[in-house]
Amino acid sequence: MRYISTRGDAPVLSFEQAMLTGLARDGGLYLPETVPALSDDAIRAMRGQSYEEIAFTVMRPFIGDTFTDPEFQEIIAKAYSGFGHDARAPLVQLAPNHFLLELFHGPTLAFKDFAMQLIGQLFQAALSRSGERVTIVGATSGDTGSAAIEAFKGLDAVDVFIMYPDGRVSEVQRRQMTTSTESNVHALAVEGDFDTCQGALKDMFNDFDFRDGVRLAGVNSINWARVLAQVVYYFSSAVSLGAPERKVSFTVPTGNFGDIFAGYIAKQMGLPIDKLVIATNQNDILHRTLETGSYTTEGVVPSISPSMDIQVSSNFERALFYAYDQDGAAVKEQMDSLKTGGSFKVSQGAYQALQETYASGRVSEGQTSAMIKSAQATMGELLCPHSAVGVYVAQDHLGETPMITLATAHPAKFPAAVEDAAGIHPPLPGRMADLYDRKETITHVKGDVAAIQAIIRERISA
Ligand SMILES: *Cc1c(COP(=O)(O)O)cnc(C)c1O
Repeated sequence: MRYISTRGDAPVLSFEQAMLTGLARDGGLYLPETVPALSDDAIRAMRGQSYEEIAFTVMRPFIGDTFTDPEFQEIIAKAYSGFGHDARAPLVQLAPNHFLLELFHGPTLAFKDFAMQLIGQLFQAALSRSGERVTIVGATSGDTGSAAIEAFKGLDAVDVFIMYPDGRVSEVQRRQMTTSTESNVHALAVEGDFDTCQGALKDMFNDFDFRDGVRLAGVNSINWARVLAQVVYYFSSAVSLGAPERKVSFTVPTGNFGDIFAGYIAKQMGLPIDKLVIATNQNDILHRTLETGSYTTEGVVPSISPSMDIQVSSNFERALFYAYDQDGAAVKEQMDSLKTGGSFKVSQGAYQALQETYASGRVSEGQTSAMIKSAQATMGELLCPHSAVGVYVAQDHLGETPMITLATAHPAKFPAAVEDAAGIHPPLPGRMADLYDRKETITHVKGDVAAIQAIIRERISA
C-alpha cells in the first residue's frame, strides 16, 4: 500500500513512513493511493467478533508489509487493553432507530484514545525495530495532549512533550496530563494561549537543526494512522445493527474533520453507509460550506464544546481531494487561496460530490445545554457537550435508516457545562476516581520557542 499527498507533489511513502512523517512535504496530507474494499462476506464475518478482531480485518489492508500479522495483532491488543469497557465502543439505544456509540471508555475519556493508543504502539513497534528514538512534541487545548501522554507514557523509544496554555484547560484535562509518573512524559504549562503553543510547535518544525537534532515527530490529527484507527468503530457499530444487509447513517460532532472522514473511508471500503451527518457548534465553518459551497474562515468563538472550536478544519482537505476526483493541483489551488485570502469557493462538481456524501447541521450554545438536559430526562443518558451537539443534529435526520451518533467524550470530562445544563455533577469512572489525589508534575515555561527548545534538549539528553 502506497501513500500519496492531497496536493500531489510530495514523495510517495509506505505506511510506516507516512505514519512517522505526518504532514507531507508539499504541505498536503497523506492518503492511500487506492482504498481497499472489503466484501460483504468479510463484513458479515465480523458479526460476533471482538473489537480487536474487527480492527485487524479493517486496518490490515492499509499497513502493507510494515508489520506481520502476529505483530499487528499484538499491537492492537496492547492498544485497547487499557479501556474500561470490554466492548471498547459499546452501542446504546437512545430512541426508536437512534443509537449512541460511546467512544469515551479509553484512558482519557475521549474518542481520541482510539487513535492515540494505537499510534503509541505502532510507533514503539516500528522504532524499537530500527533502534531509533523520536521526540514527540504536541500542542493541545486539552483532549489531544492528554490522549498523547497516556498513549506514549512508559514507551522507551519515545519522549513526549505536550505544551498546553497555562490556566486555560479544564482541571480534569490538566490532571490527565500532569499526573503521569513515567520519566519520558513532560507536561509543559506555557505562558500564553493555545495559539502561543501551536506557534511554538510550528517554529520547532521549521527549525531544521532542532528538528533533526531531536528527531522531532508529530501526532496531530492529520496523521493518517489516526484516521485509520477511527475507521474501525464505524464497522463494529454498523455490523451490530445488521450491516452489510442493513444500511446505517452516522452523525459526528466535528471539528478538524478527522473522525467523520474516517466514516467516509469506511463507506469507500464497502460499508453500507447512507448519510454522514456533520454536526457543528457555533463555530460552523463546515456547515456553512455544505450550505453555500464557500469555505470562509471567521474568528473562533469559544463554546461549551471546546474540542470543536476551530477556524480551519485541517482534515477537510482530504474530503476535498476526493470531491475533486483526486486532483492534487486543484486542492493545492484551494488551499493557497485559503492561506492568502482566508477563503475558497468549491467548484460546482466538487460541491455536488460533497453534498452527495455529507449532510450537516449547526447547534447553538442554548440548544446544546437544552439537549444535555432533555437527553438526561427522556433518554436516561448524560451527554458531554460535544455528544449533545451530535444528538441534536441527528434528531433532524432520523428516518427509516438507523442513525448512530458518535459520543466523543465522557460527561465527566466537561463537568461544569454538564452540571449547568442538567443539574447533575457527572462522576469520574471508578478506575480514575483518584485523579484529584494524584501528584502533579508540571514544568512552567515562558511562551518563547527558545526557552521551550532548551527544556526539550536538556530533558532528552538527561
Ligand atoms: C477532537 C474532538 C472532537 C472533534 O473531532 P475531529 O476529528 O477534530 O472532528 C469532538 N469531540 C471531542 C470530545 C474531541 O476531543
